[in-house]
Formats: sequence, C-alpha cells, structure tokens
Amino acid sequence: MTVETGGVECNSCGQSLPDARPDDPAEGRPPCPACGSMSRLVKVYLHDEVTFHTDLVLKKRTPGFKSGGRSRPAQEQWSGDEQSADGIWRDRQRVVDRENNRYVERMTDPNGTVIRDVDEPLDQHLRHGSDKPKG
Ligand SMILES: [Zn+2]
Repeated sequence: MTVETGGVECNSCGQSLPDARPDDPAEGRPPCPACGSMSRLVKVYLHDEVTFHTDLVLKKRTPGFKSGGRSRPAQEQWSGDEQSADGIWRDRQRVVDRENNRYVERMTDPNGTVIRDVDEPLDQHLRHGSDKPKG
C-alpha cells in the first residue's frame, strides 16, 4: 500500500491552495484567497495494487437434459482471466456444449497471441482428459 499526500484544498469552497503544506500549523495559515476560510482539506490517496480479473460463467439448462446419467447443464461457458503457472494472466474462454457434443477452448496471451485453440467433439476431449481409460 502506498500513501500519497495530494494537494491542500480549502475545506469550505474547494479552492486549491498550492502554497499550503499539509502539515502547516493551524495558526499562521493564510486564509483561503477565495472565501477567507481557515479550514483546510488535505487530500490523502491510498494506493493499493489491485488487479481486476473478470470471470464469467454461463450455464444453459434444458429441462430433462442429462449427461452421463446425471442432470447437468446442456451448455456451459467460462470466460475470464486465468493465471498460468508462469504467473501471466491469460484470457481463457471455454465452452462445454453437451447438447451438440462440442468442446471449445481458447487461451490468449496478454499481447493477443492465441496460445491454445481447441475445438473438438466433447467426447473426444473427455477421452484424453481425466476420463481416459487406464492402461
Ligand atoms: Zn475557500
């Protein structure tokens, strides 16, 4: 967290007082040139490293739709930034379309380079995923 002291303003009318110091003693201050007030506002800004990452999940539910014997969303979409093992946040879009047996995954570097582009039948994707038969 970074604390930064900004300008000093008149607390009554908002006139900025470029010559005033945040730690000026109360006595001996010049009054506000605009309204004559002795009241001051010292602006302090707090900075924090905040990075926003969007993460959006869409689910399409079709009544009665089942997949693998379970009631599951007919279609799911994930869209958001994902931090890779190398620490870089990459845009990642994923679509699992159980209705149409389709799996789409696209990962994009911050500079716009597509580093992963998958578009294949969902059952094929699952086969080389965790559901892969052992042996
Ligand atoms: Zn003033």
